Amino acid sequence: DATIAGEFGRIMGWADKYRTLGVRTNADTPADARKARELGAEGIGLCRTEHMFFEGNRIDAFREMICSETLEEREAALEKILPEQQGDFEALYEALEGNPVTIRFLDPPLHEFVPTTEEDIKKLADTQGKTVEQIKAIIDSLHEFNPMMGHRGCRLAVTYPEIARMQTRAVIRAAINVQKAHADWDVCPEIMIPLIGDIKELKYVKKVVVETADAEIEAAGVELKYHVGTMIEIPRAALTADEIAKEADFFCFGTNDLTQMTFGFSRDDAGKFLEGYYDAKIFENDPFAKLDQIGVGKLMETAVKLGRPANPDLHVGICGEHGGDPSSVEFCHKIGLDYVSCSPFRVPIARLAAAQAAINNK
Ligand code: PEP
Ligand code: MG
Repeated sequence: DATIAGEFGRIMGWADKYRTLGVRTNADTPADARKARELGAEGIGLCRTEHMFFEGNRIDAFREMICSETLEEREAALEKILPEQQGDFEALYEALEGNPVTIRFLDPPLHEFVPTTEEDIKKLADTQGKTVEQIKAIIDSLHEFNPMMGHRGCRLAVTYPEIARMQTRAVIRAAINVQKAHADWDVCPEIMIPLIGDIKELKYVKKVVVETADAEIEAAGVELKYHVGTMIEIPRAALTADEIAKEADFFCFGTNDLTQMTFGFSRDDAGKFLEGYYDAKIFENDPFAKLDQIGVGKLMETAVKLGRPANPDLHVGICGEHGGDPSSVEFCHKIGLDYVSCSPFRVPIARLAAAQAAINNK
């Protein structure tokens, strides 16, 4: 009610006076983005785009792209997704009212998008002019034993640059439209490339993004700034952050994957044995919930120390689950991050934790 809202607002106002860390949210729908804004989020730090591919006509078109043999066919299929993807981004920019939005390009392995029911396989076979057996053979060929370490993240944009081109067009066209509609907003899209492990991957994908974005901006006859950055979620990226920072406008720590790869624990399965680690007093906490400062944290600190001198304008944040955990937020403050990004309902906790971190570490 109004009293609670008033008191909540007052406490949060105090917190905001003290904190130096920015607080953003992880959101990929306008409803989540609006909720997070009400709770005080200052931007979107991570928009995962994969869920969008299951909406509207997108999944059918994307499955067509996966089953296509030629670049022309794949581009034609992606062209069908483009207007809807542009609409997805426009709605997010509108919800954020000129505040920053970081859009992460497609991350999961392709096999997560293939049809699983006989009915959907048959439908795809019919639209593709193929037999059910041919479609099943394509689906089988995409099977991976360890997909989280497989053909995903920037690796998709390296092998299928047309996906990155489509997503870049959608981001830039959406930003141009929203900027036209709201001249007083400062729309500056932030494109984030996932799962970079080597500077050459970032250079390769960035070239695709920049060429596509610049062509779009020129064709529209407007001026638009945009940023290209990367997730730091593979240990090798953290250890080579000086090289990577020269090509990146921002870093965002993906500590879910970074924890998985630093510990060598599956983020999806570790819960099955971690209880035993607490009993054996090897761990006190779930490393996926609280930042492990001697492993994952050390990699983050290393990346900040290497990255900042290489690029003094580098903006650095975190968007793994740890971004909403108070002790992890304090660690992020201490190593000098610019912002944390967490799920909408953890935004108030992050604001308080950021204030407490600033007071504790004066
Ligand atoms: C991460 O890996 O921490 C991250 C934010 O990305 P995702 O959870 O989507 O892999
Ligand atoms: Mg990740």
